[in-house]
Amino acid sequence: MQLPHQLLDSLTGIAGFNKEAFVQIHESGEQITSIRLNPAKVPIGNRSRLEAGAIGNGIPPQLQENLLSAASPIPWSTYGYYLPQRPAFIFDPLIHAGAYYVQEASSMFLEQALTQTTDTSQPLRVLDLCAAPGGKSTLLQSLIGPESLLVSNEVIKSRAAILEENSIKWGGANVIVTNADPAAFAKLENFFDVIVIDAPCSGSGLFRREPEAIGEWSEHNVQLCYQRQQRILADVFPALKEGGVLIYSTCSYSKEEDENMGDWLMDTFSVNSLPLTIDTAWGIVETQSDKHKTFGYRFFPNKVKGEGFFISCFRKTEGEGNTVRPPKRSLLQKASKNEQAIIQPWLQQGNSIQLWKQKEDLFAFPQQLEKELLTVVDNVYVRRAGTAIGKIAGNDLVPDHALAVSTLVNDSIVAVSLKKEEAIQYLRKDELSVTAAHKGWTLVRFEQYNLGWIKVLPNRINNYYPQGWRILKRISDNTYEQP
Ligand code: SAM
Repeated sequence: MQLPHQLLDSLTGIAGFNKEAFVQIHESGEQITSIRLNPAKVPIGNRSRLEAGAIGNGIPPQLQENLLSAASPIPWSTYGYYLPQRPAFIFDPLIHAGAYYVQEASSMFLEQALTQTTDTSQPLRVLDLCAAPGGKSTLLQSLIGPESLLVSNEVIKSRAAILEENSIKWGGANVIVTNADPAAFAKLENFFDVIVIDAPCSGSGLFRREPEAIGEWSEHNVQLCYQRQQRILADVFPALKEGGVLIYSTCSYSKEEDENMGDWLMDTFSVNSLPLTIDTAWGIVETQSDKHKTFGYRFFPNKVKGEGFFISCFRKTEGEGNTVRPPKRSLLQKASKNEQAIIQPWLQQGNSIQLWKQKEDLFAFPQQLEKELLTVVDNVYVRRAGTAIGKIAGNDLVPDHALAVSTLVNDSIVAVSLKKEEAIQYLRKDELSVTAAHKGWTLVRFEQYNLGWIKVLPNRINNYYPQGWRILKRISDNTYEQP
């Protein structure tokens, strides 16, 4: 693998860059696999319990062996683990149940950026502006409280679909998935406490993992990327409230896209750069921009166990608190008493959620976020808000898949446990031949994790797994990966 010499030359002199070690790690072909567990579904203990080998029963059995043998938590992450080898993720039902996400380890440092700059015990309004396929968004879902709002946005429609799928699988009700250009958020002036911009970039940080991307790299593309990054930042900046935090990251090593963006932000807006505390053992390099000495954190694969990454945080020091008012009239209506009564038995008690209706579709959203919901729906194109519950037909609910994999679904709904081969059949949307005593809507599970719905009829079983999500690959092709 030949790294572009223009890239290597441009990195000379950057703090922490060691050309020989950098080239050598790229040539080594080493692949690192890491996952992040979903604390809303996997009742894991903390890292010290893992290190002590005293893992609770909640760890998915398939992962237990890997985790135990590796005992290798990602040091800057509460829920992230390195795996000793790469399993065939697509054939693990638990990934489809949203029990974990395959995420590159350096990216999980977002946890430090958020928790060191923001009080996550308070209700927050968080925007993840460039969110597909959902790695950072699912992490944010795990870090904020259920009374906080996460808006996960993706501008490209086809990519917004995969973002929506991963978001549904993660299970939280406090998420709105939008499909909008960054400029659309300017209407939500001073609205967000935190904006995460994981910017589209020239991608050099992923060269070790995706050597085929090397051919697409050029100095010209770096220029185009940082111009686009400036546009994105300028477009969305009004949506951050005074005192709010902007978290900016790339998977590029180029200074133009990294430290120079800090200088550009300081020149253009009223912001302060926020330093983070890092453990020297992590191998992360703190850098400062040339002009304003803004803090940045660089991940070189020859120094950290992860891919190339850059992150920096800023606090907005101008503007006002929230100035947007929720609309007087909305496209959304609250569910009627009758609809609520039909839905109640399907839901776990004790969740403070409100049921909403848009046309025929019912969905659940946290009660305390009503104002936020109405405001976002009024201003930005929303693909999905909260947890889809389903539609009412007569006096019955036709449940939505999202309900089955959400944290709201009632535990006591009749369920059938599938063996691994049956679970794969279900996820392929093949015909199922399991025995189910109960007739009607039934949850299917693998281990204790819900996979979706079936409907048991007198002479057959209908498989309601979403058509677009089904497993298409055969066992021989196990290259599936979540970026
Ligand atoms: N945050 C994601 C994650 O952790 O899974 C990865 C995001 S990826 C680095 C950047 C995203 O920005 C892509 O999904 C891309 O489609 C989107 N994007 C591309 N052009 C954009 C633009 N002009 N404005 C906003 N987002 C853009």
